Amino acid sequence: MGVGDGRAVKAADRAHVFHSWSAQGLIDPLPIAGAEGAYFWDYDGNRYLDFSSQLVNTNIGHQHPKVVAAIQEQAAKLCTIAPGFAVDVRSEAARLVAERTPGDLDKIFFTNGGAEAVENAVRMARLHTGRAKVLSAYRSYHGATATAINLTGDPRRWPSDTASAGVVHFWGPFLYRSAFHAETEEQECERALAHLEQTIAFEGPQSIAAIILETVPGTAGIMVPPAGYLAGVREICDRFGIVFILDEVMAGFGRTGTWFAADHFGVTPDLLTFAKGVNSGYVPLGGVAISAEIAATFDQRPYPGGLTYSGHPLACASAVATMNAMAEERIVENAAEIGERVIGPALHEIAERHPSVGEVRGMGVFWALDLVKNKETREPLVPYNASGAAGAPMAEFAAACKRGGLWPFVNMNRTHVVPACTITEAEAKEGLAALDEALSAADAHT
Ligand code: PMP
Repeated sequence: MGVGDGRAVKAADRAHVFHSWSAQGLIDPLPIAGAEGAYFWDYDGNRYLDFSSQLVNTNIGHQHPKVVAAIQEQAAKLCTIAPGFAVDVRSEAARLVAERTPGDLDKIFFTNGGAEAVENAVRMARLHTGRAKVLSAYRSYHGATATAINLTGDPRRWPSDTASAGVVHFWGPFLYRSAFHAETEEQECERALAHLEQTIAFEGPQSIAAIILETVPGTAGIMVPPAGYLAGVREICDRFGIVFILDEVMAGFGRTGTWFAADHFGVTPDLLTFAKGVNSGYVPLGGVAISAEIAATFDQRPYPGGLTYSGHPLACASAVATMNAMAEERIVENAAEIGERVIGPALHEIAERHPSVGEVRGMGVFWALDLVKNKETREPLVPYNASGAAGAPMAEFAAACKRGGLWPFVNMNRTHVVPACTITEAEAKEGLAALDEALSAADAHT
């Protein structure tokens, strides 16, 4: 298809495609003609540097030749097989995930994505402990299925709030907008742990199956936890026999500059959920990495859960190729290095010059700019709102990015800088320059 066909693609979309999270009559989806590496393009010759990695999942970039070839080879060999059979490509994908996850998380249950991974992790925790409640943090996202959306700590939960029983929310650490009036990272850490302990005491520890946390909360604002917080939660879980679930659907597979974000904090959960970066979304795939102790619960007793496409051969082939290419091409190391040497320093420098940038947070290729009306009061550039809609100032900022050839990630009052882990220094600088320019649209609202 050439230039001009975009209109037909859009018309066909509007005829029958029902889109996620949207009022169907109010959306205007951009028709996409192709993508490669950190870029994608439309039918009118506009190319965008993708600072969102789609939904923070194309960690290896678009159309990586080794991954494309692996999918083609697997398709020619065996497209599909039920989960009950043993197949080489599934075993190899499980081995490579187990090898990378921390500690004894050595058994892998495959799903089609992140929400299903969370659903199954919670089910495993409930059956393992014989308890029902699950604690999760405000300012979190865990997926859009029944339990996962209830666990989610953002307004997208509200319309489905009663879908799953037994979910209790608490405040995690976030010094910039501290729920605990803390002034230092140490205070924030200490008070957040005390708050969690108190929540457990009042809910009844004997009723709590699990605590689920994103290792570094992503969608909610890339809030890197203070040193000691996750180790503190691990200790609390051990004391009360509570299963500790780390959700690494977004933070895993190189995003933070290590294979898993948990590696930065020296913490091993009992269950770890993953998806997105495991194969950069080339074929839907997610899963749960399971500790030896929880796996043993289901050694002689059946695990009551499964999916027709669990460990799908095409998905597993793409995951094997992705993990191997990431190791061969030192892609995780690249994410760490570009983050530390290029993106982090540039964002801090940008923040100094722009009145709308309240705070810069992040690591690897996982950064957030918290945009404010006023640096002193930290009033968000747009108010926290139920629809999740960006609001006019953020929409103007996003439009300015796109005019400059940059595709941004925007959520509430934040823009996230989350390019592919493969991004080069030159590409990062190109995107940062476009971001710098577009921020004047946000500055106009300060
Ligand atoms: N957990 C986290 C931390 C996520 O970021 C996401 C997706 N953004 C999910 C779970 C849900 O994953 P999926 O959309 O693949 O169901």
